[in-house]
Amino acid sequence: MTNAGSTHPIKGHGWYDDMPWLARYPQGQPAQLTAEHATGLGMWQSAVRRAPDRVLVRYFDGALTVREMDRQSDALACALQQRGFRPGDRLGIFLQNVPQWVIALLAAWKAGGVAVAINPMNRERELTYLLRDSGASVLVCHEDLFAVARDVIPATAVHTVITTSALDYQTRDDQRVFGAVYRQRFQGTEDLLELVQHYLGRGPIPSPVAPGDVAVLTYTSGTTGEPKGAMNTHRNVCFTAQVYRDWIGITGGDVILGAAPLFHITGLIGHVGLALLLPAPLILGYRFHPLVLRDAVVEHRPTFVIAAITAFVALANSGVAKADLASLTKTFSGGAAIAPATRERILAQLGLDVHQAYGLTETTSPSHLQPWGVPAPVDDVSGALSVGIPVFNTVVRIVGEDGALVPPGQLGELEIEGPQVVPGYWNKPAATAESLPGGRLRTGDVGFMNPEGWFFLVDRKKDMINAAGYKVWPREVEDVLYEHPAVREAAVIGVPDAYRGETVKAFVSLWPGHDVTPEELIAHCRATMAAYKYPRTVEVLADLPKTTSGKILRRELRVRGEAAAG
Ligand code: AMP
Repeated sequence: MTNAGSTHPIKGHGWYDDMPWLARYPQGQPAQLTAEHATGLGMWQSAVRRAPDRVLVRYFDGALTVREMDRQSDALACALQQRGFRPGDRLGIFLQNVPQWVIALLAAWKAGGVAVAINPMNRERELTYLLRDSGASVLVCHEDLFAVARDVIPATAVHTVITTSALDYQTRDDQRVFGAVYRQRFQGTEDLLELVQHYLGRGPIPSPVAPGDVAVLTYTSGTTGEPKGAMNTHRNVCFTAQVYRDWIGITGGDVILGAAPLFHITGLIGHVGLALLLPAPLILGYRFHPLVLRDAVVEHRPTFVIAAITAFVALANSGVAKADLASLTKTFSGGAAIAPATRERILAQLGLDVHQAYGLTETTSPSHLQPWGVPAPVDDVSGALSVGIPVFNTVVRIVGEDGALVPPGQLGELEIEGPQVVPGYWNKPAATAESLPGGRLRTGDVGFMNPEGWFFLVDRKKDMINAAGYKVWPREVEDVLYEHPAVREAAVIGVPDAYRGETVKAFVSLWPGHDVTPEELIAHCRATMAAYKYPRTVEVLADLPKTTSGKILRRELRVRGEAAAG
């Protein structure tokens, strides 16, 4: 049975008109889906009506039902409004994977505002940029992250800081993740739980949001190294949450394991969005720890998980037994390449048949998924495992340098059009015009589609380094290296790494009369950037290789870096 001949409303665009991937859709799977909800808030209100007593979040020994989540987010939304938070305002969420993430997100929406997802690994320099760029007026952060936020706040538009303890909403205090966490309060801040308790039973003044309004700003970097806020709209969010549900066949009887970080689009949609839509319990565990995760699986029997492949590798490396993970029957990995051998090892060792998901921050999570239960092919030439096929309502084409469609089998850049593609970057019309011409996303990923409609990635146009799904932009690391007085030239590249897939390596040359060790330069970077970004190795050269016009030859450095990485 094939869907290839069915009428398709997006046909006739000069895309691959026969859309060969539709023939890969399992029997009964429609080519199109109609979004059931227009806004994240509408999606949530439907969940509250249908299943108020279902558990929505589990956090160690703590649990919040749908109704409790609704009441608590109502209370926080009311508190926000009382503090001057108005429709369209931005609320920064600077948290690990805790229940307060979901409470803050819903509260922002209920007050008519926008959530700004901030990586909790960010340091002062990164946080300043994000808060200023988004113009956030309220920040919700962990007590121990207030040390990062405190000095930054005066240089931003933030007028209200709400801190929260990761120890709230549970009593077990698992020392494996909470060993260094203790309760602390700071002058000039308010406490999330206290606010919730104070306003419990009250709700916000209704502030309707529209489908095209921004639901979440998720930051992604670019070749310039300056992060850009992808404007994931309510329409985008509702669509991709439903894609996960309908593609994989997830129901309210499923349980979701929150193994990916919530600030990243994979966790935001594949965990939170999906949980709010179904509704279904989402298991959160503060931060990633393989054995804590294993214990949560044994205790709560989750059925669905999506995470970067490194998370599965970490589970395998920690000696987790197959039987422990037996409840996980729907497993996906996205955000970074999966080596076919790794997929096999995870299957053999953990019994998990990890399926592929591919997407970007700008596609609000997946543009491609592997059909459930259908093996993804491996390309004979490159050895790459297919990243899947375009999901419902989505058209992907491979284009050459001139922007023209190339035939199946030929290499080009992936261009994506569909209801999950963001309308643009926050306050960045030039970057929007460049990356999203005519509403189509130019991904910067290079690959091909085979005649059967499977997509393969083989290269990147962008210099981005993909360290276990965390994206690092060389320019940002180079800028920090240049701040060191001894550094004359700096170039940063990705080098192969057995665990992280790729890791960060820097080459530098020094000003005459200056001396600095690689360790000192690593420490210099480490002090001002998130842990996943700083270079793990630095090589000092007399001069960096350059073209006659003076451009640093990254390609040559890459060959050198790869040789050194063995
Ligand atoms: P992000 O915006 O952080 O989600 O990063 C998006 C980028 O991650 C894409 O442009 C790809 O380069 C990479 N990526 C995402 N999913 C996959 C996958 N399944 N295989 C290989 N690379 C991936």
